[in-house]
Amino acid sequence: MPTYEYFCQNCENRFEIKVSVSEKEKGLKVKCPRCGSNKTFQILGNFFTFSKGGSGSGFGGGCGPNPMPGCCG
Ligand SMILES: [Zn+2]
Repeated sequence: MPTYEYFCQNCENRFEIKVSVSEKEKGLKVKCPRCGSNKTFQILGNFFTFSKGGSGSGFGGGCGPNPMPGCCG
């Protein structure tokens, strides 16, 4: 079961929850375990990985020895 990281806007609490993918796809409402608020949003751990123009991340090959077609366009 994957772990998701969430942040509470109400009390600025950062927490992790374990939820099955199917549950999450149903539109799970995550409550803050500290204050019970539902003003939570998911922290995407890979946010920076997919930022454009990044170089030297070393993730996914990029423009390494065998770049994907069009990668270095
Ligand atoms: Zn909270």
